[in-house]
Amino acid sequence: MTLCLEVTLVPVGRVDPDVRAWLKEDLPGVFPARVEETPPLPLSPRHFRKERSQYLADGLLADFTPLVSIRTMLILGITEADLFSPGLNFVFGVANTGRALISTFRLRPEVYGTPANPKLFRWRVITEAVHELGHALGLPHCGYPGCVMYFSNWIGDTDRKGPGFCYQCKKRLERLTGIQG
Ligand SMILES: [Zn+2]
Ligand SMILES: [Zn+2]
Repeated sequence: MTLCLEVTLVPVGRVDPDVRAWLKEDLPGVFPARVEETPPLPLSPRHFRKERSQYLADGLLADFTPLVSIRTMLILGITEADLFSPGLNFVFGVANTGRALISTFRLRPEVYGTPANPKLFRWRVITEAVHELGHALGLPHCGYPGCVMYFSNWIGDTDRKGPGFCYQCKKRLERLTGIQG
């Protein structure tokens, strides 16, 4: 029997069906994973901060708690809302043990005044999803700019690194999960 990660996709608010389909297709290409999807959770107004027109990432992440009891290893939330974390103007995503949340808001090329580009957008979505799932599995940031676990300060970092783990992070991941990539 081959071991495999169980990833549960949880849309938070309305999420582009293309994005959900991409994640289900692309994630198993990065690590052995079975991806399932739950019905969407509401984008809770409790976490909206009117003065900055953003949602508190950590608040939305905490809303996944009842889902963690479901027998799955990892939860991957996905939202189109713009997210921030205390001390940061924005975040592409956030994670803690067993759960991750990414926002597609700042992954769309249009946000930077460049033309829509589904291929680039898809690359960014899978890259950010793998980065946050890496954290959810216990991986820290990596100093190698070509590794998915490198910290993205801006979208250019995300575009450069892509969804692949460096050799060291891959080994570390195998130790943490017991799963051979
Ligand atoms: Zn990170
Ligand atoms: Zn690495």
